[in-house]
Amino acid sequence: MTLRDVYAARRSIAPWVRRTPLKLSPALSKLTGASVHLKLETVHDTGAFKIRGATNRIVNLSDEERARGVVTVSTGNHGRAVAFAAKRVGVRAVVCMSELVPDNKVEAVRDLGAEVRIVGRSQDDAEVEANRLISEEGMIGVHPFDDPHVIAGQGTIGIELLEDLPHMDTVIVPLSGGGLMGGIAMVLKSAGAGIRTIGVSMARGPAMIESIRAGKPVAVQERATLADSLGGGIGLDNRYTFALVKRFVDELLVVDEGQIADGMRQLYRGDNLVAEGGAAVGAAALLAGLVSKPGGNVVCVVSGSNVDMEKFTRIVNGEPSEA
Ligand SMILES: *Cc1c(COP(=O)(O)O)cnc(C)c1O
Repeated sequence: MTLRDVYAARRSIAPWVRRTPLKLSPALSKLTGASVHLKLETVHDTGAFKIRGATNRIVNLSDEERARGVVTVSTGNHGRAVAFAAKRVGVRAVVCMSELVPDNKVEAVRDLGAEVRIVGRSQDDAEVEANRLISEEGMIGVHPFDDPHVIAGQGTIGIELLEDLPHMDTVIVPLSGGGLMGGIAMVLKSAGAGIRTIGVSMARGPAMIESIRAGKPVAVQERATLADSLGGGIGLDNRYTFALVKRFVDELLVVDEGQIADGMRQLYRGDNLVAEGGAAVGAAALLAGLVSKPGGNVVCVVSGSNVDMEKFTRIVNGEPSEA
């Protein structure tokens, strides 16, 4: 994984994925004393940055692989991205999910043009079916983060940041599997501009952070959180993102549920933004004073906007809300 892969990704995805705006947040700037800029990954067609990585993976399939189609088990932002990108590029996509996935999520994936295959009563059952499609029917699995094309796709955010705000001091990125953080941090550190990189996870099950502390990938217990898009492990057989985060990320922070809600409320009231919990963790860390000396130009990557609007309304109105 090098800067070259990310520039190649940028060329690959340019016809399909929009370049996103970087917007100054006067409200967060006033509160922190820094110039805080928001990278708006909320404006993508699928509402989150994962369209970058999924598109880069799919457009780089060989003709023979394209004919076999792609498969995933995600019903969240990655599943939406794979469904959308495959449809646009003209590749068959299957999303496997369990009977327990709510109807609105099933419909959302179907509406994006993917085939939905409902199997069993757990995510594990859906995964067994996806693996069967890969091994028996030759379909191509698209990993949500631990894949060089996916990481390079997410890294294109780093290139856009270098173009729009070359004098960044600090970049704060939501962190789960580490495709987003790993790709961006690799770009910024390779550019050699002395930019400080900070990853933020939720306190409820921060898999990458616990793995970095343990010195190797470890499993964490999954718990309900407002930052649901940051849930899940990094894979005990992690190949790429663990090493990237370890090498290129300077600081790791966690935010609790109340801080995440505060971050969502702040982005809504201060910047008219609908950010899902996982996308608000950077603003949350800044607001909570967890970022030491946040001077100069600070960038927060606001990674997505896919949140149930009733839940969102309760949160921004300050009503008690369970994840
Ligand atoms: C997937 C996701 C993340 C985390 O990305 P990783 O590459 O898994 O670290 C952050 N925010 C949103 C909205 C996401 O969908």
